[in-house]
Amino acid sequence: MNKDDINSIKALLSSPKAIVIIPHKNPDGDAIGSTLGLYHYLKKHNHKATIIAPNDYPVFLKWMPGEASILKYDHQKKESDVLLKTADVIFTLDFNSLGRIGGMEDAVATSEGIKIMIDHHQQPDDYAKYMYSDATMSSTCEMVYNFIEMLNDVNKIDSDIASCLYVGIMTDTGSFRYQSTTSATHHIIGNLIEKGARNSEIHNNLYDTNSYERLQLLGRALSNLKVVPEYRTAYITLSQEELNTFKFKKGDTEGIVNYALSLKGIIFAAIFIENHQENIIKISLRSKGDFSVNELSRAHFSGGGHTNAAGGKSDLNLSDTIDKFISILPQYKQDLKA
Ligand code: 5GP
Ligand code: MN
Repeated sequence: MNKDDINSIKALLSSPKAIVIIPHKNPDGDAIGSTLGLYHYLKKHNHKATIIAPNDYPVFLKWMPGEASILKYDHQKKESDVLLKTADVIFTLDFNSLGRIGGMEDAVATSEGIKIMIDHHQQPDDYAKYMYSDATMSSTCEMVYNFIEMLNDVNKIDSDIASCLYVGIMTDTGSFRYQSTTSATHHIIGNLIEKGARNSEIHNNLYDTNSYERLQLLGRALSNLKVVPEYRTAYITLSQEELNTFKFKKGDTEGIVNYALSLKGIIFAAIFIENHQENIIKISLRSKGDFSVNELSRAHFSGGGHTNAAGGKSDLNLSDTIDKFISILPQYKQDLKA
């Protein structure tokens, strides 16, 4: 995003506009944090802003300021379609391809609203008039902070905006431990705490609100863990039946894949989660170092993401998906073999 773009956006936002802000499908902490942070900021400038999420998100995000105002496209389609059609501006946050917003894709693609992308995923599609795309960034929340700074408005950041942006930086950096965490990330985090983000409380809201069933599900997942030592790979499966046994709720499987990656000597980890409703196996992939799970997911599992964290899906059944996964490992032997 160059100076000219920033000046154009400043001019565009200099009078109240009808604005829609969109996170990706199955929104996570960074998607909801960044859309809400931007939402509160735009409201301060008297814009008529609405967040429309493609679908629902985990209960551990439902304490966030302004969260109750988020529309869910799959349940509020009519109202959402009107807002999308009449929007002057559409911000798309934390995704880089309209294929990531599920059923909203057409309504967004055909809207005449000026599209502004803020995102940190690799290889972005070219659908937005203004693109702030930077794959070196820890999170979209860090980028929303930078965006507000580029608009010379850091002094407008209040405790609500600060709390929302804190959430996404914290979740997308694995609580400030992944490689993408820079000194700039920590400076921003420091500023957000100064502006009223209650860091300890936020951490507690996200990570210390497990249900008993969720911990039991985690136990099952860990007992399903398999290791392929010659490829420094570990993976976990969860069948629909297992999810039902432990009364699965959205968000319950978040982060489980990281246990596989935490095994000593493992640099590539995956979790395969059966989803009968969508008739797919949802896949989360994680890696350490240079091995790109983004590339692997794009090549084999209709997905994408970042070098060290990506997602995808499979239309095969669970056991055939695992067979496919095992069978492609040799293609990556140069990266994976010790
Ligand atoms: P997670 O495994 O936590 O769902 O996602 C890891 C990363 O991959 C996130 O940045 C997420 O946005 C991205 N991602 C997850 N699923 C998909 C997918 O189906 N397609 C693409 N392109 N990216 C995905
Ligand atoms: Mn993100």
